[in-house]
Amino acid sequence: QSQELSQARIDYHVALQDLQDHGTRMVCTGKMHTDRICRFDYLCYSSEAEEFVFFHSNSSVMLPNLGSRRFQPALLDLSSVEDHNTQYFNFLELPAAALKFMPKPVFVPDVTLILNRFNPDNLMHVFHDDLLPVFYTMKQYSDLDDEARLVFMEGWSEGPHFDLYRLLSSKQPLLKEQLRNFGKLMCFTKSYVGLSKMTTWYQYGFVQPQGPKANILVSGNEIRQFARALMEKMNTTRAEEAEKDGGSAEDEKEKEKKDDYIVVFSRSTTRLILNEAELIMALAQEFQMRVVTVSLEEQSFSSIVQVISGTAMLVSMHGAQLITSLFLPRGATVMELFPFAVNPEQYTPYKTLASLPGMDLHYISWRNTKEENTITHPDRPWEQGGIVHLEKEEQQRILASKDVPRHLCCRNPEWLFRIYQDTLVDIPSFLEVLKEGMKTKPSLKKSKPASTVHPGRVREPQCQTSVQTTNEAKLTVSWQIPWNLKYLKVREVKYEVWIQEQGENTYMPYILPQQNYTFSENIKPFTTYLVWVRCIFNKNLLGPFADVLMCRT
Ligand code: UDP
Repeated sequence: QSQELSQARIDYHVALQDLQDHGTRMVCTGKMHTDRICRFDYLCYSSEAEEFVFFHSNSSVMLPNLGSRRFQPALLDLSSVEDHNTQYFNFLELPAAALKFMPKPVFVPDVTLILNRFNPDNLMHVFHDDLLPVFYTMKQYSDLDDEARLVFMEGWSEGPHFDLYRLLSSKQPLLKEQLRNFGKLMCFTKSYVGLSKMTTWYQYGFVQPQGPKANILVSGNEIRQFARALMEKMNTTRAEEAEKDGGSAEDEKEKEKKDDYIVVFSRSTTRLILNEAELIMALAQEFQMRVVTVSLEEQSFSSIVQVISGTAMLVSMHGAQLITSLFLPRGATVMELFPFAVNPEQYTPYKTLASLPGMDLHYISWRNTKEENTITHPDRPWEQGGIVHLEKEEQQRILASKDVPRHLCCRNPEWLFRIYQDTLVDIPSFLEVLKEGMKTKPSLKKSKPASTVHPGRVREPQCQTSVQTTNEAKLTVSWQIPWNLKYLKVREVKYEVWIQEQGENTYMPYILPQQNYTFSENIKPFTTYLVWVRCIFNKNLLGPFADVLMCRT
C-alpha cells in the first residue's frame, strides 16, 4: 500500500510540474457554442469560486481562440438542450504562475466527462437529454470508456433515477456539491466538456412551441442499440426474443400468439386514468390477451423494462413514463391517451420517438373529447395545474376553453391546468380509435427486410447522340450498375435519369428499369443537354448522382 501511495506522490509531482509548465490545453469540435464539445488537459475547478479555471502558460492551447466572443453567449452548452441560457459553460483564466499562491491542486486521474443533466427528476428528460447523449458522447471519444468518470454540474442532488446514470460507467458519477470534498482546487487530468446533441429528437418549446427537432439525426437503430446496452447493464433480457433468427415463420407466429400481452403503464399520483380496471377489461376482451399494469411507484425500473421489452402494446396517459417505449420490441404498438382540451398533435415527444425510421413502432393517440369525463384540479399549486391564484376573469377563460392554444414552455397555466386533469376514459371511443388505428399497422414482415444499404454511384455513365432531321434528334444514355450492387440482394433496382437543356432551369425526370435508354421525345438537334443518372433500391433508397454528362446533339 505504501508503494501505491508513493507512486501516487510521484504522479502528483509530475502532474503539478506539468500543469505549472504547460498550463491548460483545450481543443474543441464545432463551429458554434451549440455544437461544441471540448477536450482539456488540466482543466481545473475552484470549488471556492464555483468556476472552472484555465491556466495560461507559454505552451497552453485554446482552440477555438474566440477572444471575448467566448462570452457571446458562451463557449458551449453544458446540457444537450440547445442554447439554453441556464446551461452555458465557460471558464475563468489565470496565469499558471498564480498556482504558486493558490491551494495545492488535487488531480483527478480518471478521464472525465463534464456535463449538466437537464431535468433529472423527469424520466423523459433523463433519457432524452442525458442518458442517450452521454452514451453516444462516450462512443464518440474512445478514452471515455467504462472507466470514465461523469461529473454533473447542474447542481441538483442525485434525484430519483440516479441508478440509471450509474449504468453508464463503472465509476460513481460525481455531483457538483461533492467537488468541494476534493479541496479548494481540483484539476482534471483529461476531460471532455459538453454533450453530443446528435441523438435528441425533441425541443421543449423555449423559443417556439414544443415539437420534433427540425433536423433529426438519429434513427431507431441507434436508439435500440442504446436500449440493448442499458438492458445488459441492468441484467435484463428481452422477455421474448421476437427478433431472433431461426425457427420458421409459423413457429414465430405461434409463439407470438401464445405469449402476447398488453401493458398499461399507470400513473398513481397525477394525470390519472380513473377507470383503469374497466380499461384493462376492455383491452383484454378486445384482443383476447393478458393485460399487465406497471407503474414507477410500484416496481423497479428494470422489472418494468423487462415487461415492456416483451409486450405487443403499451397503453398510457401522456407523460414521461412513455419514454420506456424505447424498450419495446419492433412491431409493437404505442397508444398514448390525452386529457380533455389537449391536442395530441401538439405534444409529440413519444410519437416522434415511435416514428423514428427503423424504430418500427406503431403509434396511436386517443384524446378525451367529453368534458363530463374530466376531473380538474383548480385548487392545486400552480405547478400541478392549479389556477385559483389567477384573476377571476382568466380562470373563467381557461374553464371555458376547449382546446389549449399553442404556447411556449414551461409555465403556461392553461396548459398545466389541462394536462394535469384526471380522465374517465370513454371505453367505446377508446376501442374505436384503437381498432381504427390498428388497421393501418404495417406488418413487421413487410417492413423488416427493408435494408438501409444505399446504392453507390452508377459507373461509366455515357451518352451518344444523333441528329435525325432538322427538328428530330436522339440521345442515348447508358451506365453500369453501382459497384456495391453485385454484393447485395435487392428486391427492386431502378435508375433515375434527369435531362436538362443547358440554360433552362427545369429538367425532365425518368425512372427506368434498365441500364440504357434512347430518348427522342423533346430532344432537339444541335442542343446541349445536361444528364444526371442515379440508382434507386426498393423505391426509396436513393443513391448519389454520377458526375453530370454534357451531351450535344
Ligand atoms: N410520475 C409518476 N407517476 C405519477 C406522476 C408522475 O411516476 O403519477 C413521474 C413521471 O413519470 C415523471 C415524473 O414523475 O418521471 C414527473 O412527472 P410530471 O407529471 O411532472 O411530468 P410528465 O410526466 O408530464 O413529463
